[in-house]
Amino acid sequence: MEGYVHSIESCGTVDGPGLRLVVFLQGCPMRCKYCHNPDTWELNTGRKMTIEQILQEYSKKASFYVNGGITLTGGEPLMQMEFVTELFKVCHDKGIHTCLDTSGVTFTPENTARFDELMKYTSLVMLDIKHINPVEHFELTQQKNDNILAFARYLSDKDIPVWIRHVVVPGITQNDKYLYELGEFIGTLKNVKALDVLPYHVLGVNKYESMNMDYPLKGVEPLSKDDAIKARNVIIQGIKAARKKSK
Ligand code: SF4
Repeated sequence: MEGYVHSIESCGTVDGPGLRLVVFLQGCPMRCKYCHNPDTWELNTGRKMTIEQILQEYSKKASFYVNGGITLTGGEPLMQMEFVTELFKVCHDKGIHTCLDTSGVTFTPENTARFDELMKYTSLVMLDIKHINPVEHFELTQQKNDNILAFARYLSDKDIPVWIRHVVVPGITQNDKYLYELGEFIGTLKNVKALDVLPYHVLGVNKYESMNMDYPLKGVEPLSKDDAIKARNVIIQGIKAARKKSK
């Protein structure tokens, strides 16, 4: 089986625990205004690679990855669900820690069979919740968030370890009401092992220029680390309130 790969990073340190082989897959149905990788959006392009070829990449530095593993990201890796499932299955059989970095946008609660299969081989999900408010989510990403939140609940019900990621963007998600509501939602989940609150940055802007595309957040200043810490604290207040309510 072959997948469409955008690029591979051999020593990733932020996409899951430990040092990791990070594979960026092609294809994404979201159109996040702050996306740094618009060159991953298109499906069926990039470098065609087999599972064996990816495992060969892993083998080159396998001794580095003893406390890490492999992460599939993108783009949206679930756009190549069969390939991801097959690759994770092989990794799982070899005892390699598998991390799926996803927005969960392709999930449908009515038909979970394919997800049930994938989750058998997934050690950790990094779930990127872009916006808790449905209207704002659509405005930010051009996709609805109902199935994404359903995916979070599904993972909780299945007790799959999850790291939640959230990007704080001035004027969009840097909003105490929304941050608190996001916390309240996260507080209802039973499987969250970490909360990664990332400040918006503008490092991807050059890609838009080189691809002759308008950058949707032109003029929005990067968020400071201090403001990201403040945002994280508001989310944590929401988490605590939700947990207290459920006791
Ligand atoms: S989900 Fe990720 S790859 Fe897709 S548009 Fe959003 S930021 Fe970009």
